[in-house]
Formats: sequence, structure tokens, C-alpha cells
Amino acid sequence: MEEIKNRFLNYIKERVSEQNFFTWFEPLNIEKIDFENNLITFSVPNKFFITWFDENYKKLINEAIIHVFNEKFNFDYIIKKPAKTESNEKIEKQETIDRYYPKSLNKRYRFDNFVVGPFNQHAHAASLAVAKSPSKSYNPLFIYSSVGLGKTHLLHAIGNYIFENHKHYKIEYVTCETFTNDLIISIREERMLDFRNRYRSIDILLMDDIQFLAGKQATQEELFHTFNTLYQNNKQIVFTSDRSPKEIPNIENRLKTRFEWGLIIDIQIPDPETLVAIIDRKAQENNIEIPKDIAFFLATNLPPNIRTIEGAIIRLGAISSLEKQPITEEFVKKVLKDILKVRGKEIAIEDIQKVVAEFYGLKPSDLKSKKRAKQISLARQVAMYLSRKLTKLSYPHIGEKFGKKDHSTVIYAENQIEEKLKNDPDLKNKINTLIELIKSKY
Ligand code: ADP
Ligand code: MG
Repeated sequence: MEEIKNRFLNYIKERVSEQNFFTWFEPLNIEKIDFENNLITFSVPNKFFITWFDENYKKLINEAIIHVFNEKFNFDYIIKKPAKTESNEKIEKQETIDRYYPKSLNKRYRFDNFVVGPFNQHAHAASLAVAKSPSKSYNPLFIYSSVGLGKTHLLHAIGNYIFENHKHYKIEYVTCETFTNDLIISIREERMLDFRNRYRSIDILLMDDIQFLAGKQATQEELFHTFNTLYQNNKQIVFTSDRSPKEIPNIENRLKTRFEWGLIIDIQIPDPETLVAIIDRKAQENNIEIPKDIAFFLATNLPPNIRTIEGAIIRLGAISSLEKQPITEEFVKKVLKDILKVRGKEIAIEDIQKVVAEFYGLKPSDLKSKKRAKQISLARQVAMYLSRKLTKLSYPHIGEKFGKKDHSTVIYAENQIEEKLKNDPDLKNKINTLIELIKSKY
């Protein structure tokens, strides 16, 4: 019913102004659908709605019905005054609480919709510990991982949890970029005192994407002092970054050591099993039906980035309902063609040899031969180097594929090319082109 109502309302939403939608269709409910007699009963708050719909929206409502059911239904109305139902009361109650809800937090990101698996369990456990006893477990907590793996989600989850359990805490989520911008504006407008009062009176500072600090002197300086004040006053600080403190370039040592005072933890690359659980969860949340085998296919063929996977699921859901097609492997391959490629099939060494040989005007057999002409041995070394880079094959295996050569030849080739790349931009360009050419085959 909910799903039908959503599709019905979405159809209308796209065809009336926002104001009209809000006034007339928000209060409209589908009360009953009688499939035997093709009759829909809507409930509306008062008589005036009925007149208004009849005069203005009859045609549109009919269209929307056909859009949803693929056939014509008659419809009538009953009047239902919006009662103070339990859920209404709950909403009201929630709204009173919400007045205090920190503006910077996002309600959507919570612990209870965060799926835990081996790759993120430590980050999850540490975040939960911090949320349960702020300033008493790990301080600062520093979480890092590559993009789309749940850092921002965890930060907000910590904030939401603390908000729900310790109302009096002042919680602030801020990206390092926002902090920097705030700082710049405060300096320009001579409002540094406000800035300091603001950031130094926080109880829980959740700072996202700290790698943005790299090379930003003034921000580092200010953050250093903010950190010290908060830390001395026993306030909780959580940082995230796309790399470990050690790997953030151009950052003052004293700040780096501060990051290392508490607990540093990383989120690793997700394993397929947990990805399947995440896909199931997201599909459910979005009312999309994804069979188990398809979930597994997605988990193993999409890049291991939960944000990308989420986007893919939404896309599959939208297109499958538009085209009225079930989500099969074939359908997935069609709809997600562009992102599936990223982790498509394993690259075959034969393809590397073919592309490289062609590029240098040779035959693949030349690369496997023992010929020592300059051009041939360069091409051979490049092909060996690319085989190391683009496949997971071992040195002996690669040697074998190049006319049964010893593994030391492959190692030598790899070193030679790496050496040359250091001061040969032309070769670098060629190699990049070759990589593009090879990948475009997949
Ligand atoms: P990051 O900050 O590491 O780039 P995000 O926290 O923004 O990643 O996560 C990207 C998307 O993936 C978000 O929509 C988030 O809700 C979702 N996500 C990440 N990890 C999980 C998880 N373990 N369970 C459920 N959703 C997740
Ligand atoms: Mg993030």
C-alpha cells in the first residue's frame, strides 16, 4: 500500500507545483483499494478537498492511477479529520526534541543502520565505545579509510547516539574544510574571538576529512589550539581521514603526535559477505527486491565502495520499476555497464602482449622471442612491467608466458622500466596510454 501510494504521489509531484502538492496532495491518503470493482477510496481532511479535486485534478488523478495500475479505476472519497493518532503524537514529541538537535548532525546515519563485518568491526566498536562513554574510552579517536566506506556515517552515528543519551552535551560535526572556511571568514571579519569561543566550547567535536589540513598552516595552528583546549577540558574528539596521520603530507609534527595520542583505527576493504549484507539492507530500506545471487554478483563485481554500491542499487530499483523488469544478472549488466567495468574480468596477459606489440609495430611472438633488438627488448620489458601492474600473476608465471623466461628476467624488466620512468616523461605517457588501451578491452 505504502509503495502504491508513493508511486501515485510521485507521479503527481512531478506534474504540479511544489506549493500545490503540499497543500492538496500531502493530506491525501489512499484509504482502500477494491480490486474487484476497480475502485479506490481516498481519504481527505474536509469537503473542500473533494470539490477542489473534482474541479482541478480529476484528469491528473486518473492519469496517476493508470500509471500505477496500468488500468482505469474509479475513485471516491471519505472525509477523515486528521486525528491525533499515536504516530502523530510521536512525531510531535520528536519535534520538541528536535529543537535541540545539533544542526550539523545528519539523522540518517545511525549505529542501528550501520552494517558491521570483519572489515569495519574495530572502527565500529571503537566508535560505539566513544559514543557510550565520551572522553572516557579513546580520545582522540582517529578513523581512516579510503572513500565510501562509512567514516562519515560513523561520525554522525556517534553524534546521534550521544545526543539521544546525553542531551546536555554540545555536539558539533564539522568537516575540516568547513572549519578552514569558518576560520578564514573569522579572520577576515575580525571575529576570531567568536570563532574560538564557538569551537572551544564544544563537548563533542566530530571532525571529518582531516587530510584536508595538508599544507594549511593557519588551520593547523588553530586546530592545534582548539585540540589542546578541548583535550585539557576532557572533551571528546573524533577525527576521520582518508589516510593515517603518518601519511598526511605537510602537517606539523606536534599536530600529528596529537592525533596519535588516542586510538588510530582503519576501515579495510569490505569482504563480499558483508557487502551482500549491506546490499540486502539498502535494498530493503529502498523497497527494492534484489535476489540473493544478484546481491552476491554485485558484491563481487562492483568497486568495493559502499557509496557507489548504494547508488547502483537505487539505479537498479528505479530502472527496474520504470521498465517493469525484474532485476536479473543480464539486467544488472546492462544498467550498470559503466561501473561494473571497473572490476570486470581479470586482465589476460595475452591482451597485454597484443596491445603492446601493436603499439610498437611488432608481433606478439616478438615479445616471446629471444630477439635483442633495442625496440623489441624495450617493448618486451614494457609488456612485462604492465603484466606485473595489471595482473596478479607471479614473476615465474609471467616469465613462463613470455616464452619460458626465467623469473629474474621479469624482475629485471620491472626494475629497468621503473628506473626509466623516473626521468623519462615520454615513456610515462606511453605507458599510461597503453594502460588505457588495455583497460578499454575490458
Ligand atoms: P566515507 O565517509 O568513508 O567516504 P560514508 O560514511 O559517506 O563514507 O559512506 C558512504 C555511504 O555508504 C553512506 O551512504 C553510508 O550510509 C553508507 N555506508 C557506509 N558503510 C556502511 C555500513 N557499514 N552499513 C551501512 N551503510 C554504510
Ligand atoms: Mg566522508
